[in-house]
Parts: sequence; structure tokens; C-alpha cells
Amino acid sequence: MITHTKAIYPASFPLNLIDQFNALLIFTKKAKTMIKANNPSLKSWIEVEDNSDFPIQNLPFGIFSVNNNEKRVGVALGNKVIDLAKLHEFGYLDGLGFEQSDFVSDHLNDMMLKGKQGTRDLRNRLSDLFESGNDTLQNHSDHQAVAIHNISSVTMHLPIKVGDYTDFYSSEQHAFNVGCLFRDPENALMPNWKHIPVGYHGRSSSIIASGQAIHRPKGQMKPPTADVPVFGPSRLLDFELETVFFTYEGKPLGDSISTAEADDFIFGMALFNDWSARDIQGWEYVPLGPFLGKNFASSVSPWIVTLDALEPFRIPGPNQDNPKILPYLEYEGDKHIDINLSVIIQPENGDENVVGTSNFKYMYWNMNQQLAHHSVNGCNIKCGDAMGSGTISGPDEGQYGSMLETSWKGTKPFKMSDGSERKFINDNDTVIMRGHCSKNGVRIGFGEVSTKVLPAK
Ligand code: MN
Repeated sequence: MITHTKAIYPASFPLNLIDQFNALLIFTKKAKTMIKANNPSLKSWIEVEDNSDFPIQNLPFGIFSVNNNEKRVGVALGNKVIDLAKLHEFGYLDGLGFEQSDFVSDHLNDMMLKGKQGTRDLRNRLSDLFESGNDTLQNHSDHQAVAIHNISSVTMHLPIKVGDYTDFYSSEQHAFNVGCLFRDPENALMPNWKHIPVGYHGRSSSIIASGQAIHRPKGQMKPPTADVPVFGPSRLLDFELETVFFTYEGKPLGDSISTAEADDFIFGMALFNDWSARDIQGWEYVPLGPFLGKNFASSVSPWIVTLDALEPFRIPGPNQDNPKILPYLEYEGDKHIDINLSVIIQPENGDENVVGTSNFKYMYWNMNQQLAHHSVNGCNIKCGDAMGSGTISGPDEGQYGSMLETSWKGTKPFKMSDGSERKFINDNDTVIMRGHCSKNGVRIGFGEVSTKVLPAK
């Protein structure tokens, strides 16, 4: 260290100045790794209500349209949606390396192909543009008139063109509860569960946007009292309270992504209702796992909250020494995230009933471990792949992420405010999931994913 400074500075250079210069170097390096747009003291010249999910520290990305016109990339700020195609057209995004076609698009994938640094630079630019005191755009009411919309006047769409969809099973409490319900508390967790982030490949074509209703699925099932299977509408339609993360372009087939590299391959997260027909699932799943009980729909919230925006909410995860995990799953630093989650059932023309509140912090396996495991065999990860967390349940009653657990397989019906009961989801119920982080006076929200269940076709 000393020889290094001697080589750079003349011998007569005052030592305290060298120290100061080195301190400045370290500070600059640190500041470079810090994400400018996350500064809790930032305020926007666009008015943002205190309880908004979308303060200037969030800036989540989505796909919107106005009056059935072409779809575009938008960013939420307070109760406004910013049209990035317009900002790009007017030159506000110059020098960032994006094309107009990255923003006039049905999906975020083209924009995401610019990778972590590209989207980070874009979010930082937007943060600058909308920070109070910056009058570059604020002085152009003509530009604002066409580039800024009220959130209530736009239609939101599925934000990502999902190539492959993987669903994990990474909440210990959920795996334990399901194990208790279908086996017994002594053998609730399968022997592999604390060694492997268990997952399966789902179906991407039926991942749908929030607001799109689904029909109750039909299928084959075998009630416990029946000798032979029956066919009909699922009687045990359930939600799964999950989050999902979307990836940047990964590595070529044959290469792996380590837990240390994983952050650079994760664009952001959304809320995810991974619909499940428990009766169809229960009959079909042996021995190859989930199929028609799962592939009829999974609903995703419209705004992708970047992993960058979630960095301030990192927290430590659970101890993984008993049993000890294999080295490729080990990781350094805080990789779990404190995200409050809630799930609501709203009967037709009725009130919202909160049936569960949970938190993303209850995950046993974090996203870095999931991605490292997913690619450890050389599986190639592509831009726009979706990775579901698996149902996220907390340790207590009232913190469960599925009706299967909340009603304990139908033995403990949930009492609704209108006097009715729910074991599972009824026709014409709407299921809503919400999520947000909160710290240092900053609330980073996800908005919601909302889906109505229509009768079977
Ligand atoms: Mn699931």
C-alpha cells in the first residue's frame, strides 16, 4: 500500500493530502456502487402523496396504452405514468444507448436487453429529470402534456414477454404446512428440501396481466370418497401468494450464474398469483408433478419494481447450517428482502376481506440461490424468464399464502365480513394481492394484482 502511494506521488507530497486523496477515491468508488436514485431525501416536482406506492425512489417499469393506441414503456411516479417513448423522442434520454423501438413495444424485453447497467442508468436519468429543482422537463409544458398521463386514464398490460416460467417452493412454512396437510408434521419437509431450492417448469403462455378475469378450470379429480375419478369444474380453486422475478439475458448454454453474480441478472420483481386447482393437482401430480392443476393461469401485477429500488430493504436470511448447504448455494451479504404482502378476497359487490398477510422475508432460499441452482447444470437463462418464489407463508395463522393453508384443507373455513365462509375461492370472487417495502420514510410499493374468477365455461 505504502509503496503504491510512493510510486504515484512525489516524496515531498504532504502525507495528509495523500490520505485525503485516497479517502476521496474510496468514497467515489463507494458512491459509484451506491444507487443514486434510491436517496431517501429525493423529492419530485411531480406531486406524490405520502402513502403512494410510487415515490421518486421507486420508478417501476410497465407497459401501458392510452385509448387503444400502441403499447409503450411507462414508468409510474405518484399517480402519473411517464411515457418513455415520448421522453426518448424529445431527447431527454439521449446518450443512454436506447432506440425508440425499445420504448414503443408490447413488452419490456428490448429495453431489458441493455442489461443491468443500461436500465440502472435509465432509472437514474429519470430520477434526475423528475427531481425537484431540475427544470429541464418541468419548463416544457408542451412535452409534459403528451408524455405524462394520469394513471387512471391508461390501460396497463402484461409487462414482460415471458420465455420460460419456473416456479420454486422456497418458503419453509408453506412447505411445512403442505407437508402436514398431506403427510404428517414429523415428515412434513421432504429430505431434499433444505438442500435444494425445489422447483418445477411451469407454462408461460398462461401468465396473464392483472385485471384479466379467469374462468374456473375444469378437469379430472378423484374425491377422497370416490373409487374412480370424476370430471368437472374444480371445487378447490386456490390462489398462491407469490412474488416473481424477471431476468436479464443470462449466459450461454453450459455456463452457470453464481450466487454472487445473480443480482446482475435480475431486472426486477412483481406480485404473482399462481392460481392452483387443488383437486386437479392432488390427483395428477404423481409422479411428475404439477400439470393441469397449475397451468391454466398465473396473474402478474403490471409494474416491475427494479431490484435496484429494492436494495435498501435487504435483510439477512435464515441460518442454513443445519443441514449445511452445498458451497454453490452459499452466498455473501444480505440477500433477502423485507416486502410486506397481503392477499384479499372481494366477493362481487362486497367488501375486501384480508385473508392473509405475509412477507417475502420468510423465504428460506433467496433469489440468488434460486438462480444459482437453476443454472448450476448449465441451463441457459434468457431475457424475460419468470421465476416464481413459491407460495410465501409466515409462521403464524393469518400469515398463510393459500386458502389450502388458511382453511387448513377446508377444515377451518374463513369467516367473511358479509357472514359467508370461504374454504377456497367462489365464482365471482376477486382475489387481490398487494405488497410494499417501507423504511426511512420511503415506501416502495408494487401496486396490486387483481383477478376475478368467472364460472367454468
Ligand atoms: Mn406456485
